[in-house]
Amino acid sequence: MARLLAQVLGHQEIIEKILQSFEAGKPGQTFLFVGPAGIGKKQVALGLAQALLCTETRRACGKCNTCLRMEHGNHEGIKVVEPAGANIKMEQAREVIEYLNLRSLSGNRVIIIDQAQTLNPQAANSLLKTLEEPPEGTFFFLIAPSVAGLMATIRSRSRIVQFKPLTAQQLGEKVQAPAWALKAAGGSFEKLAQLQEGPEQELRRKAVDVLKIFLEDQDFLMNEIWRQEMKDRGNAQSILSYWVSFIRDALFLQEDAKNQIMNMDQAALLKILAEKSRESLLSLVQKSMGAEQAILANRDVQLVMEQLWIQRQEI
Ligand SMILES: [Zn+2]
Repeated sequence: MARLLAQVLGHQEIIEKILQSFEAGKPGQTFLFVGPAGIGKKQVALGLAQALLCTETRRACGKCNTCLRMEHGNHEGIKVVEPAGANIKMEQAREVIEYLNLRSLSGNRVIIIDQAQTLNPQAANSLLKTLEEPPEGTFFFLIAPSVAGLMATIRSRSRIVQFKPLTAQQLGEKVQAPAWALKAAGGSFEKLAQLQEGPEQELRRKAVDVLKIFLEDQDFLMNEIWRQEMKDRGNAQSILSYWVSFIRDALFLQEDAKNQIMNMDQAALLKILAEKSRESLLSLVQKSMGAEQAILANRDVQLVMEQLWIQRQEI
């Protein structure tokens, strides 16, 4: 298995289209891959790089010396740039330009810029000229969650390729995980891994506990348990984001759209929620999202939660 594209899960239409444009000889030289994190955009870029560098075929033969070295990540025809810390910095952009100026390399060259939304403005600016008119045989793959965080000038020079999340079924082909986790992962391996890690599981359990207290304890304001569990701002925010997904599920349960439910293992909680009126669920989901935003915006967690509780009384 030395053909990297053969190891990619899903995204077959996208891959096929681009391979065909390679073969037709007019692929464009700068690609911008956008879509959620953890769904395989970088693997696709690496696989396409192998195809561009392969000495036998534009689809990657998987057998030639170049393909083998690409598989082991040690071919000089490719350079992968990732943020060092929070950003991709000016000196990294300079390294790319120096790399492209190397005269000693023959054949195609591929630059992958992962998390391109973290390019700092100077770094982005210094690459613009190269992105606008890449040297012959040079291909760029920029990878980002969406086009939103990128400079318009970069966007306009790129062939934008929108990636879709994987399906729960596709995730399940690669990873052993409970059905609820496969669904709740929203098509992302990264999210799936997080969901299966201990801390995240525990946080989810806490989210269930605190929501039950919120729904059932008439003395919520005096209750110390949620105040403890939500002391940490990050935890509080995650707990509210789980609430939103539970309430969303309860709305689907009311519609009898069971295949849309993500948290299938939480039947008891969903049942309690689904017994509420539709208006109060819709209001609760909105207000929970508002509370999550307020916490993200650094508002006092305890105050936000007290307000949420008081507003709930008015529903
Ligand atoms: Zn090859």
